[in-house]
Amino acid sequence: MLSGGVGGARFLRGLLAVIEPEAVAIVGNVADDVEVLGLHVSPDLDSILYALAGLADEERGWGRADETWNALAAAAAFGGDAWFKLGDRDLGLHLVRTQALREGATLSEVTTRLARAAGLECTLLPATDDPLRTFVETSAGTFPFQTWFVARGHRDDVDAVHYAGAPQARPAPGVLAAIEDADLLVIAPSNPYVSIGPILAVAEIRAALVRRRVPCVAVSPLVGGRAVKGPADRMLARLAGGTTPAHVASCYAGLLDALVIDESDSPADLPAGVRAVVTRTLMRDDEARRRLAHAVLDAAGTHA
Ligand code: GDP
Ligand code: CA
Repeated sequence: MLSGGVGGARFLRGLLAVIEPEAVAIVGNVADDVEVLGLHVSPDLDSILYALAGLADEERGWGRADETWNALAAAAAFGGDAWFKLGDRDLGLHLVRTQALREGATLSEVTTRLARAAGLECTLLPATDDPLRTFVETSAGTFPFQTWFVARGHRDDVDAVHYAGAPQARPAPGVLAAIEDADLLVIAPSNPYVSIGPILAVAEIRAALVRRRVPCVAVSPLVGGRAVKGPADRMLARLAGGTTPAHVASCYAGLLDALVIDESDSPADLPAGVRAVVTRTLMRDDEARRRLAHAVLDAAGTHA
C-alpha cells in the first residue's frame, strides 16, 4: 500500500484489523521529511508508526498521545526553532533515528528497527532512502513543504508542486519487491499531490505500478467533495480543476483499476477501466475503518 501520514494511517488501522498484518507492506511518503533542531523528522512514517502501535493522539490528529512539550519550550527559550511542534515523547524517536542516520544507517534500515521496536508486524518502508523533498509554488514564493504547511499554515494557494531529488531517487530496498509480489495494490486515502505524488515521482515505483498484474485500488480522500482534513480539496480544485472522484482519478492516470468513493460523491466521468466502488468512507471509528477495508478488499476480488 502507498501511504501518506494520517489518512493512510487511519485506513491501515482498519486494514490490519481484517487481514494478517504480516501480509501488509506499506510504502510511505518521505518528501515531507524535515530537519528540525538538528533532528531528522519523518512525519508520515511516524504517523503510521504511532497509529499502528496505538500511540497516536486521536483527538489532536497528529503526534503522540499523553504528550508534553517541555523540550520544545526550553529550546524556544534559548532561541531555538519552535515552529515545528515536536513533543517530548515524539523527540525520543527523532533522537534515535537521527543518531542511526549519522552513524551511517539508511532511512529504510532505521525505519525497520523503529517499526520492530514499536511492535509493528507489518512491513513499513520509506519510498526511497534518497533525498526527496516536496516544494510548493505559490504567488508568495516557492516553499519547502513544511514551511508552507506548518509555518505558513498552508494559507497560500498552490500553483504547482515539485519533488526535488525525484530524478535521482531510487526505490528503497524492498519497495519494488513488495509491489511486484503483492496480490493487491492499494493507494491510501492520502493527499494525491503531497503524499502519494512524491512516491509516484520515483520513476521505478511508478513503472512497477504501471506494469502491475494485480488490481490497484485507490481510496478517495474526499467526502462530499471536501477533504476530511487538510488542503487536498483546495489543491485538487486548483491543480486538477475540481473536487470530484474523477479529479482524484486524474492524479493516478494509468495506475487504477478501481476507486473507492464516498456515497456523497458522484462516480460520474471516471476514466475508462476505473471502476467506482461507492460506500461510506468516513473512518470515524473501528467499525467504519473495518468496513472500508472490506470494501477495498472486495473491490479487488470482484476485479480479479
Ligand atoms: P498527512 O500526510 O498526514 O497529511 O495524511 P495523508 O496524506 O495520508 O492523508 C490526508 C488525507 O486524508 C486528507 O486529504 C483527508 O481528506 C483524508 N482523510 C482523513 N480522514 C479520512 C476519512 O475518514 N475518510 C477519507 N475518505 N479520507 C480521509
Ligand atoms: Ca504528509
